Amino acid sequence: MNFENTLSFAQDLDRQDKLSLFRNEFLIPQHNGKDIIYLCGNSLGLQPKSTKKQIEILLNQWENHAVEGWFTKGVEWMHFHESMQHSLAKICGAKPSEVTPMNNLTVNLHLMMVSFYKPTAKRHKILMEARAFPSDQYAIDSQVQFHGYQPEEAVIELGPNEGENLLRTEDILATIDKHKDELALILMGGINYLSGQLFDMETITKHAKQYGITVGFDLAHAMGNAPLKLHDWGVDFAMWCSYKYMNSSPGGISGIFVHENNYANKELQRFAGWWGYEKETRFLMTRKFKPEQGAEGWQVSTSQMLLLAAHKASLDIFDRAGFENLRAKSELLTAYLEFIIDGVNQKAGKLLYEIVTPRDKKQRGCQLSIIAHHPEPKKVFEKLTENGVIGDWREPNVMRFAPVPLYNTFEDVYRFGEILALNC
Ligand SMILES: *Cc1c(COP(=O)(O)O)cnc(C)c1O
Repeated sequence: MNFENTLSFAQDLDRQDKLSLFRNEFLIPQHNGKDIIYLCGNSLGLQPKSTKKQIEILLNQWENHAVEGWFTKGVEWMHFHESMQHSLAKICGAKPSEVTPMNNLTVNLHLMMVSFYKPTAKRHKILMEARAFPSDQYAIDSQVQFHGYQPEEAVIELGPNEGENLLRTEDILATIDKHKDELALILMGGINYLSGQLFDMETITKHAKQYGITVGFDLAHAMGNAPLKLHDWGVDFAMWCSYKYMNSSPGGISGIFVHENNYANKELQRFAGWWGYEKETRFLMTRKFKPEQGAEGWQVSTSQMLLLAAHKASLDIFDRAGFENLRAKSELLTAYLEFIIDGVNQKAGKLLYEIVTPRDKKQRGCQLSIIAHHPEPKKVFEKLTENGVIGDWREPNVMRFAPVPLYNTFEDVYRFGEILALNC
């Protein structure tokens, strides 16, 4: 499409957008009496208007049924998460039994590594991307240490080549080849949080599986943002958080994926808790742990009903919008943001704002990460905030902006460009 850097063009695209009504289902913070230009769904998604209602329903159930809420017909908290397995499965390309909401992300990273990081003297290394999200680095290092190895030796962090900002798939595959007999696990982000690069999870997984290497992905930035086919790709496990693109409340419930190929593997150990016990017989309270088949067998503690209520509000919106429609809009919206930023540079006559996220739409979600080559990059960012643009800032000079197809408009992107241009 040939884009134009005009308000009327942006408004035309909004008029043609079949998903435009969804914006009205979200609460948008105000700035000087106008909707803020919120480009930070990569960090915290906006609140759906229906969240309050879902939480209120839950509070009323608690009020009226108390403990009987777990089983009373029509309430049945016991099964509340099951209605969400279908929605989650559609978003990540899984079977419903392969996914479940539970816990928080870093907790799930640990629980998944307990099962899927099975080091032996010969095969004990983990491959991850350099500059991964800190929590993933800490979780991986501490798991390695827990098994008696040193992170310096056992964790391979693959970074971009000298002078580049992105990882090349061929380099990832070559690294796998080189360490094929030592790698116990590959655990990468689906999308790197800093660069916004979407990795070729299918190619990486298929390449690693031929050597018998276990593969997992942290989908914090990919879930609800990038197309996923976890089951077909043969990914062993994954986990994500729900408060970024999934709009399910700050610190909201996380989720996991476990491929059904792993269900029958008796060697998989897990840190067990009663909520992972076979559902039919859980309340017989017997002595020996017997896991529920599927992802639910990794649950540990009683489901967090309030967080599930918030999650439900958001997942209902995803169900109605349809992920493929969202992705189609997302590609266009991010391409427009790219065009607008390029335009600001052209107008300035120099590369003030360098987009480091891949220009190929297959290698990114909606987020664009920008290195500001401005003499005072932090000031630029502060000026954006003062003018009603919310993005985020990562030291020393990276700004991230994510136009989210559920609630952002082409006009948001156009106005963002106007404000960015003030800083030339
Ligand atoms: C956001 C994010 C986290 C945060 O983990 P929490 O346990 O939810 O605090 C972890 N890893 C990645 C890759 C993230 O993007």
